[in-house]
Amino acid sequence: MDKLYIFGVPIHRVTMIEAVEILKGYLKEDRIHIVATPNAEIIMMAQKDEEYKKILNETDLNVPDGSGVVFASRVFNKPLKERVAGFDLMMEFVKWASHKDVSIYLLGAKPEVVEKAQSNLKNLYPSLKIVGFHHGYFNEKEEENIIEDINKRAAQVLFVALGAPKQEKWIYKNKEKLKVKIAMGVGGSFDVIAGKAKRAPEIYRKLGLEWLYRLIQEPWRYKRMSALPKFAFKVLLARLKGDF
Ligand code: UDP
Repeated sequence: MDKLYIFGVPIHRVTMIEAVEILKGYLKEDRIHIVATPNAEIIMMAQKDEEYKKILNETDLNVPDGSGVVFASRVFNKPLKERVAGFDLMMEFVKWASHKDVSIYLLGAKPEVVEKAQSNLKNLYPSLKIVGFHHGYFNEKEEENIIEDINKRAAQVLFVALGAPKQEKWIYKNKEKLKVKIAMGVGGSFDVIAGKAKRAPEIYRKLGLEWLYRLIQEPWRYKRMSALPKFAFKVLLARLKGDF
């Protein structure tokens, strides 16, 4: 699959439609496939965290999640086709899965959030097969029971919402134990599905300003979000040096 490396993190050059097709293909193979959604923040995290970078190099699919990633690809003259936000990919996939016999498990977020997320998904797609869910605040001991529950319920697709990098590290650590076919980190998606967090309106997304909307909504995240201008600066510097 065609991919672009941004500061050591591979990003697959896929459209939303192609990404959904790839996920469908994963269901036909009897092994776990790990899906990540690198954005500028994640790529910057990986610069300081070799373990995280290594994991992102061993995933099966990395979709271009943020407008920062698409921006970088253009600056490097190796344009990605389009932005494929993790949330949108999850929703597109779930829409398709609701007409098929695909079993889904939701892991992560606060107890009331994951519960509300699963009931909202069920309301949206009554035929969707959500075989189980569990919140994301558990200890090592509970972890074994959760994995057993996921396997016992024969979940094929596991959406993990523990935030980055926790979710990818968790999936990677447990990849031999999990009997699912797809495990995908989806960040704050359950909060959005549960109606606890709002996604940026279309206009912000079209202009590549989802981060600005998020900063206005959750100003306490500014420290984490300072990764974005640092990323943009790093991209421009790399371009100037011809170092990409
Ligand atoms: N979360 C969790 N367990 C933890 C830490 C976080 O389940 O130990 C959840 C949190 O409740 C939220 C999600 O992980 O639903 C993280 O969302 P955030 O928006 O921070 O993730 P991002 O998309 O920025 O990685």
